[in-house]
Amino acid sequence: MGYRLDTRLIHAGEARPGKDGAVVLPIYQSANYEFAGESDYNDLKYIRLNNSPNHVALHQKLASLEGAEAALVTASGMAAITTALLASVGHGEHLLAQGCLYGGTHTFLTHDWPDLGRTASFLDLSRPESWAARLTPSTRAIYVETISNPLMQVHDLAQVVQFARQHGLVALIDNTFATPIHYRPLEHGFDLVVHSCTKYLNGHSDIVAGAVVGSSERVRRVVHLLNHLGGSLDPHACFLLHRGLKTLAVRLRHQTATAMEVARFLEQHPAVKKVHYPGLPSSPSHQLAQRQLDGFGAMLSFELLEPERADAWMQATHLPVVAASLGGVESLVTRPATTSHSGLTVDERRAAGIDEGLIRLSVGLEDPQDLTEDFQAAFQLDRQPLSVP
Ligand code: PLP
Repeated sequence: MGYRLDTRLIHAGEARPGKDGAVVLPIYQSANYEFAGESDYNDLKYIRLNNSPNHVALHQKLASLEGAEAALVTASGMAAITTALLASVGHGEHLLAQGCLYGGTHTFLTHDWPDLGRTASFLDLSRPESWAARLTPSTRAIYVETISNPLMQVHDLAQVVQFARQHGLVALIDNTFATPIHYRPLEHGFDLVVHSCTKYLNGHSDIVAGAVVGSSERVRRVVHLLNHLGGSLDPHACFLLHRGLKTLAVRLRHQTATAMEVARFLEQHPAVKKVHYPGLPSSPSHQLAQRQLDGFGAMLSFELLEPERADAWMQATHLPVVAASLGGVESLVTRPATTSHSGLTVDERRAAGIDEGLIRLSVGLEDPQDLTEDFQAAFQLDRQPLSVP
């Protein structure tokens, strides 16, 4: 489809005319389909084999958004990440991964990956000169995040791709925080893109889903593995994700603009020690983010001068929901040490630069002034926590 991204969000993957004239693709709540002479097991129409009409339409939309040949939706972001990694790195082989990652991915790599017969080494992405020393003869892939969770670091992604090419590695990237609105990794040479669609792509905090996007050949290998592992998305969740995707651009651009205002407010506040947001000129990631991304995203994190007051501050706010996860229309606030990164030990968090008092904020669609006024009040009241209405 030769249209621009905003148009493709609405029209890519849509059957025209729709079934029985329906404008919106209905939910095909059928586990199986009549046998139509398929000769390959993976082509039998069955929800677990990821090929219901709801899956097919979503795959086309997602592939179109990332400029890819193929896409696959999965039962969660972790299903996408683990299946894509297992399909790319074989038994006895080695993976290079960014040191500071989403906690679930980090814990998978440190706890489960060795049991699955694979090894991994973590890289300091800010020091490209140190990467080659981590290579082994069995290194097959490199795995990074576009904007890292929870410190919102943006590294030199072109250099990651160049390193992968130089050493014959598959380059995988988790594009959850940027989404195709802010960055399309395949255009820059990455081989496989993974998403937690639970976050911005769906955007309404009402499903868990994931996606893998890339060339037909690479995605086919992931599909066949997922068909056996069974982490398939239900058609009803496909329908909700499909609906959520259509408003991704307007939601994310608006949330990104609000995040910038909130980041500026927090940066000048005397109770705040440090704000991690690539949109701020003070961020070490600012120049790389400006050069590589189309937007800075709507996630930020910050540290208080008195980090032990982090929980009280979060409880004293009225608007953001104190909850893990991110990317919804409502602002969400959490302390990663207790939620998204609680699977890491204190030492692992320290090594990754994650302060125990770090607060992570997913900026929603509320009025920016209401948010900053709420935060200002919480800074004043956090010595006597209020109950959230
Ligand atoms: N990737 C990132 C960057 C995340 O933040 C998360 C969850 O928070 C995941 C992947 C995992 O996604 P899911 O919870 O949909 O399995």
